[in-house]
Amino acid sequence: MLLQTILNRVEKHPSFVYAEARFADSADSADSTGGDSAGGDSVIEVLVRERANSRPICSGCGQRRPGYDRLPQRRYQFVPLWAISVFLLYAPRRVNCSACGVKVERVPWADGKSRITTSYQRFLANWAKRLSWQEVADVFRTSWQTVYRSVEKVVAWGLAHRNLDNIEAIGVDEIQWQRGHHYLTLVYQIDNGCRRLLHIAENRTAKSLLSFFRMLGPARSAALKFVCSDMWKPYLKVIAKKAAAALHVLDRFHIMSAMNKAIDEVRAAEAKRLKQDGYEHILKHSRWCFLKRRENLTDKQTVKLSELLKYNLQTVRAYLLREEFQRFWQYRSPLWAARFLWEWLGRAKRSRIEPMKKVARMLERHGELLMNWFLAKGTISAGIVEGLNYNVKLTMRKAYGFRTANALKTALYHRLGALPEPEFAHRFW
Ligand SMILES: [Zn+2]
Repeated sequence: MLLQTILNRVEKHPSFVYAEARFADSADSADSTGGDSAGGDSVIEVLVRERANSRPICSGCGQRRPGYDRLPQRRYQFVPLWAISVFLLYAPRRVNCSACGVKVERVPWADGKSRITTSYQRFLANWAKRLSWQEVADVFRTSWQTVYRSVEKVVAWGLAHRNLDNIEAIGVDEIQWQRGHHYLTLVYQIDNGCRRLLHIAENRTAKSLLSFFRMLGPARSAALKFVCSDMWKPYLKVIAKKAAAALHVLDRFHIMSAMNKAIDEVRAAEAKRLKQDGYEHILKHSRWCFLKRRENLTDKQTVKLSELLKYNLQTVRAYLLREEFQRFWQYRSPLWAARFLWEWLGRAKRSRIEPMKKVARMLERHGELLMNWFLAKGTISAGIVEGLNYNVKLTMRKAYGFRTANALKTALYHRLGALPEPEFAHRFW
């Protein structure tokens, strides 16, 4: 079987033919015309020719136009075959277009000036969903940049072709990155049956969230039924304005993380005091005992926690307050839940633990949004935002090579955006 036969099976272009196929030295091919291949190995080169009498397509307007002249041969990298790099070689024609002037023709296997074929970009991008970009680059002997550009292309196509209709529930989340005070605002769709990352904006200002509503448009924003978020003021304002018809819910994940933050603060301050008094050992290695859920503790941490609970420490009292609050989510009757909440807030405010008092005051101010949880019950499950947040962090951790916000955004949309893909005659992955 000829290589041309295989190529015609996997990717046939009616106006072009695969002519000669040959081995070439990769030393010749690693020239300035682009393409990545490991030095020393042979590569496969396939010459491509246009069909006789076919007229080129103008890259400006997409119309068939008379030919003008021909540019030097270009190399386009194709999907490797049996770990051998493959290049298509073609000398593009220029067209004489009545509308656009003299333009280079459009070829069906690559976009614009790209020297990587669309199939190879899709191929790399799909592996980049399973492996880190650097791993993909290593496995297929290409560069990190090529993988990045490929993913970027695929993401741009997906964003342009995704369907944003019928979104009923969204969750707003903020996430820290690059250490220090860099934030990203993330918006997820959290409908049953469709959970995906919808939008990423830099910072966590009103403007960040407004960019989401602008992208969604006024009609779709007005159709939203549920919005979950934390108590961050700029978000609350924007949501009240742009999704006025939606039920705004302060979700469990964000409230519990606010409490965890308070507990951590109490523990750090108390550990410092104990150290000064020479009781350093008591709170040593205790951080995760207080922050993790009980069922997730290791045996060692469980023992440590039960020991800690014997002390009358502020950290312990803050921990117990949080544990009690868990009951709030289990109520069925909003009335009883409200009563419980009221009583809990009273206790927290009397606790003389400043960070917990702060959380209590914040919850009191947003009591209504908190009680909306019960109105939304059955529609929004407690773990949704938490689960998506976890996946975002996982992608970020895998993405230690991302120095720019743009690369990180691209990776997050790629992995979590559930973006559509075009139909192909053959899938290479
Ligand atoms: Zn034209």
